[in-house]
Amino acid sequence: MSYFILYKYFMISPFQKTILKETSFTGIGLHSGLKTEVKVVPAAENYGIVFKRVDLNKDNIIKANFENVSSAKLCTTLQNESNVTVSTVEHLLAALYITGIDNALIEISNREVPIMDGSSKEFVETIDRVGVKKQNAKRKYLKITKNFTLQEGEKLISIEPDKQSLKVDFQLVYSNEVIGRQSNQINFSDADLTNVYTSRTFCLFEDIEEIKKIGLAKGGSLENAVVVKDNKILNSQGLRNDKEFVNHKILDLAGDFLLSGHRILGSVKCIQGGHSLSNLFIRAIFKDHSNFTLIEQEESSPEKNYFKTPVNKLAVNA
Ligand SMILES: [Zn+2]
Repeated sequence: MSYFILYKYFMISPFQKTILKETSFTGIGLHSGLKTEVKVVPAAENYGIVFKRVDLNKDNIIKANFENVSSAKLCTTLQNESNVTVSTVEHLLAALYITGIDNALIEISNREVPIMDGSSKEFVETIDRVGVKKQNAKRKYLKITKNFTLQEGEKLISIEPDKQSLKVDFQLVYSNEVIGRQSNQINFSDADLTNVYTSRTFCLFEDIEEIKKIGLAKGGSLENAVVVKDNKILNSQGLRNDKEFVNHKILDLAGDFLLSGHRILGSVKCIQGGHSLSNLFIRAIFKDHSNFTLIEQEESSPEKNYFKTPVNKLAVNA
């Protein structure tokens, strides 16, 4: 038996937030293999999340918005009007989602956000350490007002209204027996999200050659991805949690949903989805304004001392 501290992230805050002070990350891009530095810099109210390619001296601003998604094949790529891109933004955006950040300038020294360990772990833990600052302006939540479904072949994503939270019920099915059929349900406003933000990206060993042939995954290795070959996981330490595959898909979805520019209040069901389906879905929601309303939360909503509150929990390690 052991005791540990369980951190809970409270994201239903009425107020906007930014990072308390600048922090940075260095690593290589999963697809480009390029060494890159990313700085997360505090930003004013209503600024949103904005990327700045500091390796370029003009047309280097790219807003993190669903309309700027130019490709969602294997990762999410944003592009501005001058065709300047930044790719693999989803794990950093998911970390901003989870830590409650609404406004930040992301200065990046190259065209791809570093993959770190394949998850959002280092982003979340560093932002957690640096701290998050509550701002005076209120958040505008995107509250879903009616059921909405998008189906693309065997892939399906749907959303129903939910007053309080983003809830995600994700299911993935692989013919590979290690991955197989996995599903998980996560309530983003009151769950312990550790298993979500520490879950790594993954691929099948037999797909690596194909992915490399199209010029992607140049930086991919067992240091930043779970690789599955037949009925074995090639990473010596195995999985980080029982549902790491589906939990990573839920992490990707949170990052891609933040590209709506808002935190979404709705209950999502997703089967076999990915970056592309999430982007099509956000675009479809915005096409018809009767799908949603933008609301502010009451100040009486649960608002903790910035974004986390330690809760003592008794855990039994069987
Ligand atoms: Zn991912």
